[in-house]
Amino acid sequence: MIPLFKQYPHLRENLPYISLGSFPTPVIEAEKLGASIGLDRLYIKNDGVTHHVFGGNKIRKLEFLIGKAVRNGHKEVMTFGGAGSNHATATAVCARQVGLRSISMLMPQAISSTLQNNLLMSHYHGAELHLFDPPETLIPGVRRILGEYKAKSGIAPLLIPFGGSNPTGIMGFVNAALELKEQVDAGLLPEPDLIYTAVGTMGTLTGLRIGIHAAGMKTEVVPVRVIDETSANVKKYMNLFRRTLSFLKKNDPSFPLPLIRENDMKFRHDFFGEEYGKSTPEGMEAIALMKENQGLPLEGTYTGKALACLIADARKGKLQGKTVLFWDTYNGNDITNMIKDLDYHELPSEFYPYFQQA
Ligand SMILES: *Cc1c(COP(=O)(O)O)cnc(C)c1O
Repeated sequence: MIPLFKQYPHLRENLPYISLGSFPTPVIEAEKLGASIGLDRLYIKNDGVTHHVFGGNKIRKLEFLIGKAVRNGHKEVMTFGGAGSNHATATAVCARQVGLRSISMLMPQAISSTLQNNLLMSHYHGAELHLFDPPETLIPGVRRILGEYKAKSGIAPLLIPFGGSNPTGIMGFVNAALELKEQVDAGLLPEPDLIYTAVGTMGTLTGLRIGIHAAGMKTEVVPVRVIDETSANVKKYMNLFRRTLSFLKKNDPSFPLPLIRENDMKFRHDFFGEEYGKSTPEGMEAIALMKENQGLPLEGTYTGKALACLIADARKGKLQGKTVLFWDTYNGNDITNMIKDLDYHELPSEFYPYFQQA
């Protein structure tokens, strides 16, 4: 049983959940990477292997979100993201796993090989793909497609927000912090002083902060912003945090809630670069260092930038004597074999330009 349900029986009764991945994920002592940047105690929480087909942090949220779709009798789930969204791809894989159809409502995004692979991977897993360019066409598109499916299936698809970051999905990361605490108690690592993680839709961050408090740990999360500040900012974060706390309170009045203090909500902004999805030189160096020293694959949109922040802090001596954990949120499975025989012409034609330019 997952730690959240072991410790909070009311949540076990009240929350939707379906097991989709493999947990707990391993903790790796990253001695070589640590030594190369002057850290004595560097660990990696490898969420790359949350799932045997397509791992990464979204699987944790999807166990609750897809659980909700199944419990409420939906036939489809509809989700949202950039064209190369890891979340949309993970949703396609997990929906297929339980026999639901997934519909991906995608927005324009900078081209990268990860983006191309994710589109093909979503298609391979039967997702229905739509591109909304310009993004203002999204809302009318959602209305139309929801209406069509409601007429066809008798029930509208379950809406899963960008990144799976609503209170239901965030339960996956509250649980993740409790999972980490069990690993600390088992002696796999000391309690971390700091956890570095990439921040997109802020669900990972919100869940970790709440779960760390519930677990009685003093660990601080260092949130490295990798998307536009109009999407990830203190105001939106406070709002998501509050909504998640009321959700928990409603489902288990005994759950220990942390205080919300605006001062604790500081993001790291310096590693974003120019644009969401566009890699930075520091991010590329971080990816290379991880590959060379620990053999783990990262990417340039999220994890490369988050690790770049950790590396910069280490090199400045800011992490002297600290136990530091890097939360690896990116799929670690090699998916190239699965998509190698796919031709992008099988996708809707609005996606062709993503395969025709550099
Ligand atoms: C979605 C994602 C994140 C960010 O998680 P949020 O909960 O959206 O903040 C980080 N890393 C990777 C690889 C992701 O796909």
